[in-house]
Amino acid sequence: MSAVPANGTWLGHPRGLATLFFTEMWERFSYYGMRALLLLYMTAAINAGGLGMSDEKGGAVYGLFTAAAYLANLPGGWVADRVLGQRKSVFWGGVLIAAGNFALALPAGMTTFYLGLLVICLGTGMLKTNCSTLVGALYQGDSGSRRDAAFSIYYVGINLGALSPLVVGTIGETVGYRWGFLVGGIGMVLGLIQYQLTGKWLGDAGVAPHPAAPRERKRAQRLLTGSLGALAVLVLLASVGVLPLNVVQLANVTGAAMIALAIAFFGNVLLFGKLTTAEKKSVAVIAIFFVCAAVFWAGYEQAGSTLNLFARDHTDRSFLGSWFASGQHPVSWYQIAQSVFVLTFAPVFAWIWISLGKRGRDPSAGAKFGLGLLQLGMSFLVMMVAAQTVLHTGHRVLPVWLIVTYLLQTTGELCLSPIGLSNVTKLAPARYGAQMMGTWFLGAAIGNLAAGLIGGEIGADLADMPAQFARMALVGGVSGFIMLALARPVRAWMGATR
Ligand code: GLN
Repeated sequence: MSAVPANGTWLGHPRGLATLFFTEMWERFSYYGMRALLLLYMTAAINAGGLGMSDEKGGAVYGLFTAAAYLANLPGGWVADRVLGQRKSVFWGGVLIAAGNFALALPAGMTTFYLGLLVICLGTGMLKTNCSTLVGALYQGDSGSRRDAAFSIYYVGINLGALSPLVVGTIGETVGYRWGFLVGGIGMVLGLIQYQLTGKWLGDAGVAPHPAAPRERKRAQRLLTGSLGALAVLVLLASVGVLPLNVVQLANVTGAAMIALAIAFFGNVLLFGKLTTAEKKSVAVIAIFFVCAAVFWAGYEQAGSTLNLFARDHTDRSFLGSWFASGQHPVSWYQIAQSVFVLTFAPVFAWIWISLGKRGRDPSAGAKFGLGLLQLGMSFLVMMVAAQTVLHTGHRVLPVWLIVTYLLQTTGELCLSPIGLSNVTKLAPARYGAQMMGTWFLGAAIGNLAAGLIGGEIGADLADMPAQFARMALVGGVSGFIMLALARPVRAWMGATR
């Protein structure tokens, strides 16, 4: 599919990997930077430079925004596969992201604000999925473990970018929110310049799209107008009061719609995609991975919701507290824990997979997914004990509980997320490469939304908290064991793709 220039390597990998590494690093820099500020900005009083929204409304906009940013990866993948190709899609996605951030930086009204968020969603959908697909395109015909290792490196780029709350967040909270958004937008522009200057290392990967047959185009148009129409009717009914929808219900409806979309998408590709039997098995495996991703992210993304509230309300933050007026260190410090752990352990995991691979003992992708989910389950067992301690002693607990929780979630993430990205690029039939990557992020969209909804429910009653964490531990544990049990058949369905 691609002729990647062979001269020169980067960390033992094709140099194009560096191009994509830094593009995605800057994209995540702007995404996580603006995300760290978003809720603070919306809920800050107008005379404090904010938008003066209630917590409830701000939270709902935040949850729907993060879900929509991941959801947009599905149409973003389709546009790349069928119209623009991945290379152009990444570029234009970056342009939209930068423009969206600049719109947020303008001292304009609410329309500009919402428009900015919408443009960022569309841009993220076009950039993130296609950048990941391009990584895979550099490794056509390479061994499975080398491709997995490449995605582990790429994941380091993601998480370097995700440290941006330290920069964008600090500027936003000290100088002014809009300055933070401006810096996020500038970061994306730097990423784009880098992408253009070093694009030659990608060879012709992702240049040519696979145009849609007229029937597929028609079906896609029908799906698009159908879902937009349904959305318009829903908004109309809600706004005239016929359908009394509150934000939580809206989030529930959105979640159900995304699950329906996933079923329709996989059903459509499997039934009408003109796939060979081997390709059908591959797509079925991607569907299983998609379900795992949704479950995993529903737990993991609670870092921003449930666990954030646990840090605020039940964690003793007196360490270095004297530096701060409140006597406690900031809650938001915990938001970079997962990225710091990824940066620490990604090289270790890349090394483990490669050295196991050399001995022919690299666990299959399904087994790694099972391990990832088990670790997620274990992390919530830790939280269950922490919540019980708070309940019984009536005191805040030490930060070590949250830190161990994040550690387990991150080692779980390293077993699941880079492996998922890598395997989707291996398994997806060429005509559906970027769209299949889009379904991976659809899993993340569902997970993000679920994490927000779970977070909204948990804070309310402390007495319930241990049992709620126990339920999450159970979900993680049971799904992990199911995946371990399925690892063998999944491996067989993956055929030569390992
Ligand atoms: N933190 C990773 C990223 O930003 C994974 C997020 C996700 O897929 N839910 O890419």
